[in-house]
Amino acid sequence: MRIKTIQTTCPYCGVGCGISAKVDDANRHIKINGDSSHPANFGRLCSKGSELGETIELKGRLLEPKIYGRETSWTEALDLVADSLKSVIAKHGVNAVAFYGSGQLLTEDYYVANKLMKGFIGSGNMDTNSRLCMSSSVAGHKRAFGGDVVPNCYEDFEHADLILLIGSNAAWCHPVSFQRIRAAKEANPNLKVVVIDPRKTASCDIADLHLPLASGADAILFNGLFQFLHAHNKLDLNFIENHTEGFEAVLDGLKLENYSIENIANRCNLESEDVQQFFNWFAQNEKTLSLYSQGINQSTSGTDKVNAILNCHLATARIGKIGCGVFSLTGQPNAMGGREVGGLAHQFAAHTDFSNPDEIDLVSRFWNAPNIAQKGGFPAIELFDAIHDGKVKAVWIMGTNPVVSLPNADKVKEALKRCEFVVVSDCIAQTDTTALAHVLLPAQGWSEKDGTVTNSERCISRQRALLPAAGSAKPDWWILTQVARRLGFGQAFHYQSPVEIFREHAALSGFENKGKRAFNISALAEISAKDYDNFQPTQWGITKDSPNGTARFFADGKFFTKSGKAQLIPITPRLPVNLPDENYPLILNTGRIRDQWHTMTRTAIAAKLNQHKPEPFVEIHSEDAKRFELETNQLAKIESRWGLMLARVQITNAQTPGNIFVPMHWTAQQSSAGRMGALVNPVFDPISKQPESKHTPVKISPFKTAWQGFVLSRRELVISEPEYWVKNKGEYFYRYELAGNQSPENLADWARQMLCANECIAPQWQEYSDVAQGNYRAARFADGRLESVLFMTTTGELPSRNWLMSLFTQTEITKTEQLALLTGELSKGVEDVGTIVCACFNVGEKTIQQAIEKHSLKTHQEVGQCLKAGTNCGSCVPEIKALL
Ligand code: SF4
Repeated sequence: MRIKTIQTTCPYCGVGCGISAKVDDANRHIKINGDSSHPANFGRLCSKGSELGETIELKGRLLEPKIYGRETSWTEALDLVADSLKSVIAKHGVNAVAFYGSGQLLTEDYYVANKLMKGFIGSGNMDTNSRLCMSSSVAGHKRAFGGDVVPNCYEDFEHADLILLIGSNAAWCHPVSFQRIRAAKEANPNLKVVVIDPRKTASCDIADLHLPLASGADAILFNGLFQFLHAHNKLDLNFIENHTEGFEAVLDGLKLENYSIENIANRCNLESEDVQQFFNWFAQNEKTLSLYSQGINQSTSGTDKVNAILNCHLATARIGKIGCGVFSLTGQPNAMGGREVGGLAHQFAAHTDFSNPDEIDLVSRFWNAPNIAQKGGFPAIELFDAIHDGKVKAVWIMGTNPVVSLPNADKVKEALKRCEFVVVSDCIAQTDTTALAHVLLPAQGWSEKDGTVTNSERCISRQRALLPAAGSAKPDWWILTQVARRLGFGQAFHYQSPVEIFREHAALSGFENKGKRAFNISALAEISAKDYDNFQPTQWGITKDSPNGTARFFADGKFFTKSGKAQLIPITPRLPVNLPDENYPLILNTGRIRDQWHTMTRTAIAAKLNQHKPEPFVEIHSEDAKRFELETNQLAKIESRWGLMLARVQITNAQTPGNIFVPMHWTAQQSSAGRMGALVNPVFDPISKQPESKHTPVKISPFKTAWQGFVLSRRELVISEPEYWVKNKGEYFYRYELAGNQSPENLADWARQMLCANECIAPQWQEYSDVAQGNYRAARFADGRLESVLFMTTTGELPSRNWLMSLFTQTEITKTEQLALLTGELSKGVEDVGTIVCACFNVGEKTIQQAIEKHSLKTHQEVGQCLKAGTNCGSCVPEIKALL
């Protein structure tokens, strides 16, 4: 057996951690370690990255091309895709076709997709799911800097004296960066952290101050900060004079509203003392780093919020210097790479865009593409509206799941059902989106792909193939190239390997650039195949003058605007478009959870990652729970004007009254009604076109059912669908949570049908029924081993799943355990560990609580010494601290 060590990059969040993988390709096995030499993580990984080795199984993979569900050859599938695109274009014009890409694509894939659609098909209709996470940042950067540049680097965490986390639960969404900030704070007790977020999230664990501001009020707070800094002579008038424009206009705008501390506090629903404290700290600390994420971007005024923050940094000259600046944390592993190549419909390529005819001409000449698109295409929401309305008749979706993730997701589903021709290229066979495809094209998965990605700090890293491609899966760039050749564009799509694409991308970035465009990696335009293979993580720009990369931009006060000066933008704060009313009285907030990624197509394969939050849930403040008659662990129905969702109630005063939170991950593959996208308001920012995913008016009510139950089974089952079901994979079993409006007529038949297709025989089958108490239980054994178990009740009391789950690790179940199993009582001496908190070491909530009490533990480090919990990736430390 030959084990190779290969360095690659994590495919989940924008931190972009380096991975050192020990690969046994003969057995298709990978052992994952953090890459200690990678500047994004220096060896650390979070729970998701650590489990990557568990996600590479072939089960569930799309292995062969399919046409209308029939397996076929690549030749037939590619011919059909090309012929169908040609036919739609011939009948309806180039704008009747569209591509919808993803931050999961590698830069080389993205480049080819963008070049094909915008350069050669000649339509602007190439957009990407990065529209949902980063486009407000892009727009804000372009307005202020003249280019889409994140000015800083991760190293600034260690140099800052004040770090703001604005609309960012980095503890769960960018865990390795969060741990780095925690370590910086431990090393520098003077470093203060302020969390600005309506929710009290796990990130507040290291906060010196939490500002739970009213949803959508960020621009009021930062306008107020600007006013405060001006009133207290804390602005850098010299920098403003020499390096910015628009200062007077900002001041004039601020005069139109009352920005006294009291008024700001009142409008933001904050305490005046807290606002004062925040402003004082900002004024006092030159080295201020503002990190922000989707809480800022996903808003109908997202671009304005970005610029309100940038204004404060520009006017204090705190930009791109060591320890200070504004840092947008990108959501996806290659959201930044997509921005480089022009993956958004209003962009072109290499930081050019459609608003500048000279740039269209420049790209046209570079690509030798006379039919190049002359205007931008449909951004995501409008694209799926156009598909729904029949304006776009053929769409190719690459590596993303819009039927789950887009706002008003039921309409997106309907749009794809109506669409004449839907192509989906993906590595997963069954998703809510692949279910609607006419043609399915098997793309390589993370462990098979070869190319580059760019993380939040502009660092380009290699993603390297660890394993041979599964089945007939191909790289996305190859699939696109084959279609391009069939469309007659062979000369421009001659690529045989990713390095050829990368060279062209690098050459375009430098083409007639002369310092006009921020993205410039022209020093790599002639990179050899060997150097590309060995390429080490480097931050762009990478030019002849800075061949080793650029850690920070703008410290010299030079920007990419026409005048070379940064633009201060007057901001008039706007409320979200749809406000709560008597019919929809609550504000719905959505976001990620610690151990899942996007639509769970990969993370749900890793059993450990399903333990932390096994069901879709809704977090609600105790006052609201009382008002809407909801109890902990009850099922709730959440409804908006656009759709509905079912979720388990979690009452927590981490929520602000009037606000609820649901996770973004569950799909129709794992739940009957757990898709949050069905609820979300499809309005968007007029500039960035980014949707308002953090603010949808909703109502909530108890979802009362006649019965509730659960099943644990070694085999995956076909559940005769009750109104509520959630499927979840464990290490040795599948778990199904169930609830229905009508009790099955014959419980025994129902249970036998579900658990063993009516083939259950004594003594392998046991059941217990207590009609008076409304309880029914059944279990199936094989050779003394537990095969499956079902619990069902009409009174609502169900036993702990944890002990029952632990029985699946045993090769034999004792008589006592069999008895205990059906009575639902724990065997004597058996411990219920509670919900798993530490996924790395499988440590449950109850175990931690008991250890804290028994050993009088005071710190998370002491808990770590006692139980190991929290000592690996550290993602669960905030929860351990909450238990302490
Ligand atoms: Fe992957 Fe976690 Fe690193 Fe994000 S923080 S890149 S999910 S290991």
